[in-house]
Amino acid sequence: MIGIFGGTFDPVHNGHLRVAQALSAALPFDELRLLPCGKPVHRAPPHASAEDRIAMLQLAIAGSPSLLVDEREVSGNGPSYMVDTLASLREEAGNASLVLIVGWDAFTGLPTWHRWRQLIELAHLLVVQRPGNMVLPCSDVKALLQQHRVDNVIELKQRAAGCILFQPLELLDLSSTQVRARLAAQEDVSGMLPTAVSTYIKEQHLYLSEIGKS
Ligand code: ATP
Repeated sequence: MIGIFGGTFDPVHNGHLRVAQALSAALPFDELRLLPCGKPVHRAPPHASAEDRIAMLQLAIAGSPSLLVDEREVSGNGPSYMVDTLASLREEAGNASLVLIVGWDAFTGLPTWHRWRQLIELAHLLVVQRPGNMVLPCSDVKALLQQHRVDNVIELKQRAAGCILFQPLELLDLSSTQVRARLAAQEDVSGMLPTAVSTYIKEQHLYLSEIGKS
C-alpha cells in the first residue's frame, strides 16, 4: 500500500510531518511518498525553487525510513495535474493499492481538479481533517462519498483503488503561509519546522521578502 501526500511544501513544516508520521504509524503503508508539486494549477507559484523545496523535504524526512520524496511533478515542465501523476504512479505500481492523502479542505474542492472523477479510478482517497473551519461538501462530493466511502483500512489494502476512508488525526494548526510570514518578519520559527530545515532556510536566505504574498 503506497501513500501519496501531495503539496507545495513551501516550506515543509511540522504540520505536514505530523500527518505523514501519524499516518505511517496508524495505517499499514509500505511507503509514504511526499510529492511536491511543480507548477500548481490552483494557486500562485511557490516562493522557493523546486530544488530548495526538495532539499528541505529531504532534510525533514531524514531518519524516517518509511517516508520518501517523489520528484516526478517537479521534474516535469508542464502544470502539475494530480490525475496525470496518479496515472504515472499506477503504471509503475501495477495492481498495488495507491492511497492519495488529502485534507478535508482539498477533498471538498475536488470538483475543481482536472478530470477529478478519474482520481478515484486510479487511487483510494484518505481524507484527514485539518484544524479550522469545516466547509460543507457540494452535492457532487456528497455523491462521490456515498458511492465510495468505506470504514475499514482493510478494504484499502485489498483493493487497488476506488475507496474513500476518513482518518481522524490530531493535527497541528500550522501552515506554510504562517511560517513564511514569520520568517519574513524575522520572527522565531522553532517548533514550526525541523531544525535542519530552519537552518537550511537561514543558510540559503529563503523567504526573506515574502510579506504581502501568500
Ligand atoms: P500554504 O500555507 O502555502 O497554503 P500549507 O501549509 O497549506 O501551505 P501545502 O503544502 O499546501 O501546505 O499542503 C499540502 C497538504 O498538507 C495539503 O493537503 C494540506 O491540507 C496539508 N496540510 C498542510 N498543513 C497541515 C496541517 N497543519 N495539518 C494537516 N494537514 C496539513
